[in-house]
Amino acid sequence: MSAQPCDPHPERSPKMGLGGLILLLALGSVLLTMANTLYSSYRVQRDLLIRSTLEANRVYAAKLAESTEIHIDSTMQQLAYSARLLAANMDMPARVGEEAERLRLQTKSLNSVAIVRLDGKVLAVSPTALRLAGSSVKTDWGLALLANRMPAISEPFMSATGRLIIFISHPIINAKGDLLGYVGGSIYLNAKNLLHTILDNHYYRDSSYVYVVDRAGTAIFHPEDSRVGTSMVENDVVRAVTGGEAGARQIRNQYGVDMLAGYAPVKSTGWGIVAQKSTETTLADLDDLLLVTFGKSVPFMLLSLVFIWWFSRSISRPLGQLADHARMVATPIGMERIEKIQGWYVEADRLKKALLRGMSLTSSKLDKLSHETVTDALTGLRNRRGLGDALNLYQLRGQSFAVITLDVDHFKSINDRHGHDVGDQMLRHIAGLMRAGSRDGDIAGRSGGEEFVILLPGTTAQNAFHIAERLREAVARTPNPTGAVITISLGVAHYPSSAEDVGEVLKKSDIALYQAKRNGRNNTVPYQGELDCLVNPC
Ligand code: GH3
Ligand code: MG
Ligand code: MG
Repeated sequence: MSAQPCDPHPERSPKMGLGGLILLLALGSVLLTMANTLYSSYRVQRDLLIRSTLEANRVYAAKLAESTEIHIDSTMQQLAYSARLLAANMDMPARVGEEAERLRLQTKSLNSVAIVRLDGKVLAVSPTALRLAGSSVKTDWGLALLANRMPAISEPFMSATGRLIIFISHPIINAKGDLLGYVGGSIYLNAKNLLHTILDNHYYRDSSYVYVVDRAGTAIFHPEDSRVGTSMVENDVVRAVTGGEAGARQIRNQYGVDMLAGYAPVKSTGWGIVAQKSTETTLADLDDLLLVTFGKSVPFMLLSLVFIWWFSRSISRPLGQLADHARMVATPIGMERIEKIQGWYVEADRLKKALLRGMSLTSSKLDKLSHETVTDALTGLRNRRGLGDALNLYQLRGQSFAVITLDVDHFKSINDRHGHDVGDQMLRHIAGLMRAGSRDGDIAGRSGGEEFVILLPGTTAQNAFHIAERLREAVARTPNPTGAVITISLGVAHYPSSAEDVGEVLKKSDIALYQAKRNGRNNTVPYQGELDCLVNPC
């Protein structure tokens, strides 16, 4: 049996191991899941943030529109009250002047106040520093007001003093219903004004900002001064809000910046208020949030990786061990090691059992095979090869031994007389007697035909002679398949006294057997040196 020695360093394969594959698979899954989770959470939060910002801006714009409405309404009521007072005092310059001053200072909504008579003459202006009192109205807008019996709010225009203004006016009508002129106030669009009062507190609220357009889409309030007085009608939101719509939407402004805008109209004036924040600024916080989320999940991910690594090793270990030990085909040590492998899951356990079954099957097959190669099929004694193995072992160990060779006398005639089958039975009969007369450790074999050998380790030549004689007598005495008396001749030699070489001892024993035949058969001859002269004349 050729047992492969256990290789402590199993050969390295260029292919990836199961542990690595499982690790890779799990790692891939973890990373993909994590990326997916982060991405979907980013998407959900992004949509949520956009929606809530749009909603906040919509509500905010609506609130500002409402406040503006209230302010304009209150300003208009004050102008109406003033107009009623002035209707009775238009011809009293001092009262008119006082009223203009009172109105401006009390309302605080108006940057300047003017009282104009029906003929276009400006009766009073506050602040007086404007030095417009006594002049005549020349603007189309101012002239149109003189024919107007209704309160009015102008579009932005350049005033006589070179300011961009909006003018809010109320007609002065006396008790008889005659139009006497108008009282009005201006809002300086490029200075601190009514709109600032309303919007200032909210100016640049968390990087969002507000602007106001008039009904024609011209900016009348904007954090960027340069935009005040310019048309913003290109903007979708401006178009919507000047059309009277309120709502919120994501738009791209004229600079190409993505904006989240809420908008609401001021119904009484036709103005539109837009509150907006850039999408990028809105989402900037989200990136930080994503980073924080990622940071928080890193320890868990690392823990998962350690667990996966450990688990993948646990899965691959039994298979790796099975593969390593399976190379020691059917050796007891290989089987012992496989027995110790922990097949802790179904497949590994089944593989282990299958391997053990296969190995024990192979082992018994090999045992049988090796037994057959050293055994004589007819007698069950050792054959020539089996005897050779035993002699080699003695040689290796330096074991002394005696050898008896024996040959059946006149066996040919037994065959001739009784047939070959009886001849075979006869050989088995003699083998049985040899076995019966052997001690443990003695080795009986058939060296060929009707010739046999007995190896007697640790036995002297003299003892071997006695054993040979006993066997000879037993053969002659014991009834055999032929029914007649059968005899054998025997030769005895000893190692190392008969020959220094193990192989030679067998030959010496053969020489002694030859002498026994010559002596007339049915006798035993111990080898002596002079017998060599039978083979090679001395
Ligand atoms: P001797 O006393 O000189 O030994 O005479 P012998 O007839 O025994 O010797 P010989 O060598 O002339 O004959 C041996 C015979 O043994 C010849 C052969 O047919 C027979 N034989 C050899 N092997 C077997 C076997 O396996 N079975 C049987 N039945 N006969 C065998
Ligand atoms: Mg013979
Ligand atoms: Mg013979």
